Amino acid sequence: MPQVFLYDTTLRDGTQREDISLSVEDKLSITKRLADFGIQYIEGGWPGSNPKDVEYFTRAAELDLGATRLVAFGSTRHKHTTCKQDANLHALLDANTPTITLVGKSWDYHVRQVLDTTLEENLAMIRDSIAYLKDAGREVIFDAEHFFDGFLANRDYALAVLEAAASAGADWLILCETNGGKLPWEVEQIVREVRQTINTPLGCHCHNDSGCGVANSLAAVRGGCTQVQGTTNGYGERVGNANLTTILPDLQLKMDCQVVAPERLRELTALSRYVAEVVNLKHDDHAPYIGHSAFAHKGGIHVAAVLKSSDTYQHIDPALVGNETRSIISELSGRGNILYRAQALGIDLNGDEVQKVLNDIKRLEYEGFTFEAAEASVELMLYRLRPGYVQPFELIDYFVISERRQNRGLLSEATVKVRVKGDVKFTAGEGNGPVNALTRALHDSLVEAYPTLQNLCMTDYKVRILDGATGTAASIRVLIDFQSDGKKWTTVGASPNIIEASWRALSDSMEYALVRQDK
Ligand SMILES: [Zn+2]
Repeated sequence: MPQVFLYDTTLRDGTQREDISLSVEDKLSITKRLADFGIQYIEGGWPGSNPKDVEYFTRAAELDLGATRLVAFGSTRHKHTTCKQDANLHALLDANTPTITLVGKSWDYHVRQVLDTTLEENLAMIRDSIAYLKDAGREVIFDAEHFFDGFLANRDYALAVLEAAASAGADWLILCETNGGKLPWEVEQIVREVRQTINTPLGCHCHNDSGCGVANSLAAVRGGCTQVQGTTNGYGERVGNANLTTILPDLQLKMDCQVVAPERLRELTALSRYVAEVVNLKHDDHAPYIGHSAFAHKGGIHVAAVLKSSDTYQHIDPALVGNETRSIISELSGRGNILYRAQALGIDLNGDEVQKVLNDIKRLEYEGFTFEAAEASVELMLYRLRPGYVQPFELIDYFVISERRQNRGLLSEATVKVRVKGDVKFTAGEGNGPVNALTRALHDSLVEAYPTLQNLCMTDYKVRILDGATGTAASIRVLIDFQSDGKKWTTVGASPNIIEASWRALSDSMEYALVRQDK
């Protein structure tokens, strides 16, 4: 299979998703990261549409993007005007990018209904605009909007649009599946038919409305496209664009296409998480290849098999995309799940110890704990089995009050008595709630002996009321997320009392912060 070029439009089409709004800073940092990864084209925005994109292109010009080509996006000239008079085309040239993508109509219905002009004028708009930008020495990519719908409605006209763009010098013709409703075999067939009459390199731009954004892109490559447009993590308008984070490993590992260097592919998981972080959306745990759960095994039989031979329940070696095999610890676990996790932490366990951890987990889950998300609590159980393990602190007492008094409002106060390195510390903390006060008191009692706790910060606190019918002894479960030095972890506690449930998760979290291996 040939070289396939990736074209990432996260910064333009991706930002049309609800919930995403990027600052110029955000866009620049994503640009740099995508370029370092080796994406061939990065579409930065539409300079004719807003001042933010104008500033972005000015500042992006100063970035070292290596071999990656930055792309400005815009539409063809307006009807009944000249390119010279067209403000949009001028904004595109002023963005000073090596490549410009022009979008134009290829469905006759849209030309008449939306553009409200003649089929001939639309062809002239496309031809003139492309020739104008080619004269200015730019690489020009032509996005044929609604191409597949247009081809089915009026094949001759859709092909005439491509021919007009090609004759004006377009370097690429992109067949856009704008409404996202096509199925893979339709896409492959139409690309093949286009290939028979058009010699200019073809690309595809698919959306995911039929759940086939990735499949349609792969089908387009089979049909003869050598450029694939999409977005990192599939962000985009409505249900999203074709997801490059899935398409890339599919092309490279399953279809034998040459896309990026294999060592770059190993950074795919990190890239995907980075972009999720910058756009401020939770990373999708269940995304193919790069999700946290993509190679996670929960059933005891699966884990036992993976321990013997990793390919028994995995379609690829997760390291190829920078992900890892995980064994999920829960009441469904077998001994293999525990062994696998211990091995990953470099801890040798004998058979009795494995059984003890497994029994503890099953008992605690029966009491209301859940360990699937609270991996730090599981790791802590394993650390505690290490020979010579010394608990960094030990609780003696805690005391928490919450009061609401007339004219004084709401106040919570906690005192904590702990033994730390042989000393007994007695510390008080105030907060806007009892858990907040307890957290401060415990943190303050430890930070002098353990200065590494200085940067610790709680990032999430979740309470779940457990259904009495499930047979759990505790009625409240608390999950707490902490973060320090770029690392996040989750611990769990359960009890009939919300303060005690919180304490158990909290004290596990602080202990984990002090003993975790990757500090
Ligand atoms: Zn699109």
